Amino acid sequence: MGQTMNSKITSIKRKRNKPARVPAVDLDRIASGVRLILEGIGEDPNREGLIDTPRRVAEMYVELTAGMREDAAQLIVPLPGNKHDEMVIVKDISIASLCEHHLAPFVGKCHVAYIPKNGRILGLSKLARLTETFARRLQLQERLTSEIANTLFEQLQPLGVMVVIEAEHTCMTLRGVKKSGAITVTSAVLGGFRKDSRTRSEAMSLITGK
Ligand SMILES: [Zn+2]
Repeated sequence: MGQTMNSKITSIKRKRNKPARVPAVDLDRIASGVRLILEGIGEDPNREGLIDTPRRVAEMYVELTAGMREDAAQLIVPLPGNKHDEMVIVKDISIASLCEHHLAPFVGKCHVAYIPKNGRILGLSKLARLTETFARRLQLQERLTSEIANTLFEQLQPLGVMVVIEAEHTCMTLRGVKKSGAITVTSAVLGGFRKDSRTRSEAMSLITGK
C-alpha cells in the first residue's frame, strides 16, 4: 500500500463551501477533554510538566481547525485587467491537515493547475490561502483535494482545474501498519483538463517534473 492514486471527479453541489453553522470554539471544553486523555493514559495532569498542556493543546486544535470558521469562496477574487489565458501551475504548496479518523496530522504538498478564462487569474498567495483554508479542518485527503478544486472551478470559472496532493499520514506512518514514508497521492480534475488528455498530461509532467 505504497502509492495510491485516486482520480476524484466530484460533482458541484454548493456555491459556498462554508458549513451552514459553525459553533464557536470552546477552549475549556477541549482542555477538559485533553485532561481526560492524560488521565486515561495513566498520567497525572497536575504534575508540573503537564499543568499547561490541556490549554496548549486546546489552542493548537483551534488553530488547526481555523479553516472551519472561514469562507473559502471569499478568497477567490480575480486580479483585474489580465489577458493571460495560458495554464497556471503553482507547485509545492505545503499543507498540514488533520485526518478526521484519528485527529492525527497529515502533511505534504499541494499542486494546483488551472487554465484561465477571459483573463481571470488569481493572486498566487490566494491559491495558497485557499489550500490552507480547506486544510485547516478535519479532513480526508480525497475530500481536501476535491474541495480545493471545486471551489476554484466554481468561483473563478476557469476552463479547467487540476489539483494534486501528495501527503504522508501520520496515522499510517507512526501507528497501525507503520509504513514510514508511504505517500498518498490524490487528484481532482475538472473542466478542460478532464476532456483533453494532452493538457492533463502536460500539467502532470510540469507538476511531477518528469
Ligand atoms: Zn487517519
